[in-house]
Amino acid sequence: MADQEVLLGRMTRREVREALARGWFQTAIVATGSIEQHLEHLAMDYDISAATWVAEQAARRLYPQVVVAVPVSVGISEHHMLHPGTLTAKPGSWLAVLFDAVESLVRHGVRNVLILNGHGGNEAPVGGILRQWQLYFHLRNPEASVEFHSYWDLSRAEAEQICDTEVPGHATEYETSMALALFPEKVRHDALDNQREQQQLLATAEKGALLAEAAVAQTVAHLEAMIAGAHREEIERGIAEEVFPPE
Ligand SMILES: [Zn+2]
Repeated sequence: MADQEVLLGRMTRREVREALARGWFQTAIVATGSIEQHLEHLAMDYDISAATWVAEQAARRLYPQVVVAVPVSVGISEHHMLHPGTLTAKPGSWLAVLFDAVESLVRHGVRNVLILNGHGGNEAPVGGILRQWQLYFHLRNPEASVEFHSYWDLSRAEAEQICDTEVPGHATEYETSMALALFPEKVRHDALDNQREQQQLLATAEKGALLAEAAVAQTVAHLEAMIAGAHREEIERGIAEEVFPPE
């Protein structure tokens, strides 16, 4: 296996099998995002690229505890469909694939799954169903835990210190700064310079580097807490309030 490979899709079945047999990769990050318009200056795949980047960096810092899966690159983006090129999944279709990917990981023995999201339109649909998913997995395997967070929420306190405008916004200061630092090839400077008096003009690569580091560091901290079982009690309490016990 390539040194410190953490992306599931790049590994062979032998590499995955042997890693799991060694007790590695007991925790997984499932990255979610979107392929959608990001104004005139930023590439369509920013959201899924950013979530995947944060997930990969965090997993590398915790190697070999955490593996990263990216089962779907599109998101729930009906509100961007007036812009050609946007791809959108219906909430039911998208949630079905996401759930099935999480369940696949759990069936292979992964204990903790963090769905690390990079697109705002995915938040409400997952938020509406997450407790049901936690219940489902808990009743089948009390060791399994599933959480969902957007990467900017895990690092919101730092991000709001670094940015003058809304976090995360949409292709504005926060996301454009991240892109300038991580994927400069995704930013069209001519289009950016033409957008006078817009929030994205506040974006800099320097801010992006700070935002990216905060996102990775807070994702690592969150994963460490998950691995230590620190969130388990809270999830179990929520579950206990909803389950009808046997007579
Ligand atoms: Zn975005």
